[in-house]
Amino acid sequence: MLSVTEAEAIILNLVQVLDSEKDSEVVSLDDADGRVLAKSVVGKLDFPHWDNSAMDGYAVRYEDLQNCSADNPVTLEVITEIAAGDRPQTDIKPGQTARIFTGAMLPAGANAIVIQENTTREGDLVTIFAAPHPQEFVRHKGAFYQAGKPLLEAGIVIGAAEMAVLATAQCTQLSVYRRPRVAILSTGDELVTPEQTLQPGQIVDSNQYALASFVASNGGIPLKLGIISDRPEALKNAIAQAIESADIVLSTGGVSVGDYDYVDRILAELGGTLHIRSVAVKPGKPLTVATFDNNCLYFGIPGNPVSALVSCWRFVQPALRKLSGQNNYQPRFVKAITRYDLKAGGKRETYLWGKLQLVDGEYEFTLAGGSHSSGNLINLAQTNGLAIVPVGQKLIAEGEEVRVMLTS
Ligand code: AMP
Ligand code: MG
Repeated sequence: MLSVTEAEAIILNLVQVLDSEKDSEVVSLDDADGRVLAKSVVGKLDFPHWDNSAMDGYAVRYEDLQNCSADNPVTLEVITEIAAGDRPQTDIKPGQTARIFTGAMLPAGANAIVIQENTTREGDLVTIFAAPHPQEFVRHKGAFYQAGKPLLEAGIVIGAAEMAVLATAQCTQLSVYRRPRVAILSTGDELVTPEQTLQPGQIVDSNQYALASFVASNGGIPLKLGIISDRPEALKNAIAQAIESADIVLSTGGVSVGDYDYVDRILAELGGTLHIRSVAVKPGKPLTVATFDNNCLYFGIPGNPVSALVSCWRFVQPALRKLSGQNNYQPRFVKAITRYDLKAGGKRETYLWGKLQLVDGEYEFTLAGGSHSSGNLINLAQTNGLAIVPVGQKLIAEGEEVRVMLTS
């Protein structure tokens, strides 16, 4: 059986990243949030766009104030007032100053700002009690960014900070990758939708909802193909259709060794190449990964709701992010102190779900209460990390260090 890291490497190697030309589209800034840049952005404006004041105070010529101090104050003539948004009309000459406010444009002739706390004002005169350094509290044109230099690189996911940067640089049309299409299908004769009344033996198809949310939160378009019965013909048709319509297919169920587990056989019949059939991981051992000639990447995921999500977090998430063009697609791990004993069988890398919290600068992991059976999805809610017990280890005791994978 493959180790988790071997499986991860195989999967990432199979991913065909979207093409930055063919698979890109131009969107306006208003529609850019959450998208992945397909082309690097280069700005055409310096930032700041002109010299301006970082403080409320007076724009001065520092030469006038070189010997200025509390014991030796200097009085200047206030010839104008410049608020944010004003265009200065007059130059500052020796002995003169301008009242200025934060963000306002620096007038010609001035080369420093004296903060208003170091002054007293009387009519058109201001007395200054401290000598500024040359250029003190002046934000210079291009100090933070010069036009023509790289601003944001391709592969970045646009979030709040990037939206601000793009708006400031007046980059209003952006080339982004199209969102990958991810088909989701649930296999199993026992499954019904949440709206249907349960008959004996039936269970609700929760995976369809879990996986759709997972896909959307990772930037993909979930295509919910619904529940497919365990009849080979129906399954084959549905899988063939999913492969045709999506970049990635996620099917749950039917990949185990039960009598109704047909998925692997169907993938082979449909011309797929099977790269992985199981991984030494708990939960989530039966994991099928296949590829098709049209570049579709297929994940046959165990039906068990906990196994399904853990498999998605551990194996599908990095693949989906890489495929979507993101340059930062690797899963994130932190070292934490466990507040509970973490037990495992020792034969498979074991993932235990719980809460990761930063306490006094150190990460702590609190195991979710209740059963850690892979059939118990209830206590998965509100967890944000998976503690990892490596192969060969049966216990990480309370107070010891553990590696935790972040799930959100
Ligand atoms: P399977 O992998 O098909 O053998 O399913 C394993 C377990 O997961 C069984 O108990 C199924 O009833 C359950 N299961 C399968 N598919 C789903 C689903 N879509 N939603 C919730 N539970 C499921
Ligand atoms: Mg099944």
